[in-house]
Amino acid sequence: MGQKIVILGTGGTIAGQSSSALDHTGYTAGQIGVNDLLAALPLESFGPGRFITEQVAQLDSKDMGFDVWVKLAQRVAHYLSQADVQAIVITHGTDTLEETAYFLHALLAPGKPVVLTCAMRPATALVPDGPQNMMDALALAVSPGAAGVSVVCAGAVYGPEDVQKVHPYRLNAFSGGDAGPMAYSGGDAGPMAYVEDGRVRLLRAWSTAPAGQVPAEALVTQLADAVWPRVEVVMSYAGADGLAVRALVDAGVRGLVVATTGNGTVHQDLEAALVLAMQQGVRVLRATRCTEGRMLPGADQHLPAAPGLNPVKARIALMLALMRSNQDSSRSIAAGV
Ligand code: ASP
Repeated sequence: MGQKIVILGTGGTIAGQSSSALDHTGYTAGQIGVNDLLAALPLESFGPGRFITEQVAQLDSKDMGFDVWVKLAQRVAHYLSQADVQAIVITHGTDTLEETAYFLHALLAPGKPVVLTCAMRPATALVPDGPQNMMDALALAVSPGAAGVSVVCAGAVYGPEDVQKVHPYRLNAFSGGDAGPMAYSGGDAGPMAYVEDGRVRLLRAWSTAPAGQVPAEALVTQLADAVWPRVEVVMSYAGADGLAVRALVDAGVRGLVVATTGNGTVHQDLEAALVLAMQQGVRVLRATRCTEGRMLPGADQHLPAAPGLNPVKARIALMLALMRSNQDSSRSIAAGV
């Protein structure tokens, strides 16, 4: 009997149900249990007794929250520490998939594969995409050399720092930006690998981060006890004047991520408000609202940058960094920002 593969269900469209097989948008996400999703797959080649399943949550991932993240991180950390567990597959909605993937990567930096997968069509669709995505995720999970957090959708594999949902409807809804070669002009940019007929074709190295000094389970215990600092995202655009920043500072926000234009540029009025916020003790990070490329360092920037992270991931990095700064500095919750 081979090593175990753990499947953690969290909901999403992959577990969605609609009253019509032709309805791809008017469905309810997070309805079908992970055991039923697995039962629909041809898994004979994995052999008997390979799977452990657990329903960690059952929600539409637009409603993802810290409570589910903590529970998910606890279960992932638990299974990662089991010697007979080879890999973890997580079924998840697409809306906040990139956030959960980055959160697990930044928090746990797992060596074993932690593969998140999803669907754009509900399980009741005439031609659902979830079953193939799950098969691809399982193929990746047991692929020799696979490591760290990754996202599988429509045959493409993305790294946790690069992956981003870029389309509200099509089956290949994700992009890895310019992290890898531009595969098809219709999207699907920047994958780190493909899953082709059950085989993984790797294009670049797996996204493992250096493990922290604290074992994963201890990290997660800290996280469960931690108060999540309020970090909000504000955006720079024509006419951005800093009103939202002043209101958020008055409301007691601990951190602000500014989704900048272009190469980290911020409207001068918004920047003035952000500089003032920093002087009042609020942590500020710039992250570009451009979906491709990375911000290059500029000489005249007054605000710190989170290069390589989109605004919602920069928010997670900043929350984890703020939690870390409330702890003994040798017991870091995540890589520093
Ligand atoms: N709203 C759904 C979710 O994120 C969308 C999806 O899964 O495709 O759970």
